[in-house]
Amino acid sequence: MRGKVYIVGGGPGDPGLITVKGLKLIGEADVIVYDRLAPHEVLSEAKAGAIKIYAGKEPGGRGLSQEEINRILVEYASRGLTVVRLKGGDPLVLGRGEEECAFVIEHGIECEIIPGVSSFLAAAASSGVPLTSRGLSSSFAVVTGMEDPSKGFKSVDLAKIASSVDTIVILMGASRSAEILREVAGVRGYEELGVVVMRASMPDEKVLAGKLSDLIEAAERGEIVNPAVIIIGKTVRFREVLKAGKG
Ligand code: SAH
Repeated sequence: MRGKVYIVGGGPGDPGLITVKGLKLIGEADVIVYDRLAPHEVLSEAKAGAIKIYAGKEPGGRGLSQEEINRILVEYASRGLTVVRLKGGDPLVLGRGEEECAFVIEHGIECEIIPGVSSFLAAAASSGVPLTSRGLSSSFAVVTGMEDPSKGFKSVDLAKIASSVDTIVILMGASRSAEILREVAGVRGYEELGVVVMRASMPDEKVLAGKLSDLIEAAERGEIVNPAVIIIGKTVRFREVLKAGKG
């Protein structure tokens, strides 16, 4: 009998932000392959004897390669085991969930994707910055700040996005944050508002808010560190109102 692979979105880090379905699958899994930015606390819900494999990569550091991860998923599921691939945020938002699932399916194994709360949603909620708001923002775009250099071309044109979308959300942008903020400021102006939410939903979460000119200075001082979500747009002005209610 063949097993099955579940690609589970673990949410942004707060163990309370995984879905009920995702948590139930953690409890049923024979094998759990988990990432660095997935909530590690939920692993305590695994059944006795479950195999837990850390796949996480520190930025720029070593971890399991994508090929190794794919191979592990197929190997265990082929033995009839239930495998949970626990990922940070949502598996289909810059998460390679689609690649892993496609690989598993190509090998004749069932695969299901369970959505998760993406880090950008957690960043919006905890910083008090809505992605849309009547009269201020009718659209948002989520883009990567770091494109795969091996594809040989650039598909994110921040200047174009800045002139056509109301709220701009950047993931994987910490290491290039000064450059990214300057690119957006080139279109929106340096007075435009932004927030940077680092370690959103985690106990040591940190938020920087201000004009793009302030955020560029913070980036140059090395204050914007991974993992961080950058949100830029007029809705940042909601922060003062929503923050007041947090208690
Ligand atoms: N699938 C994930 C994104 C993976 S790409 C999701 O849906 O959230 C990795 C990037 O996600 C990081 O560089 C950072 O921009 C963002 N990220 C993930 N967790 C985060 C967190 N708790 N706080 C802030 N940013 C986070």
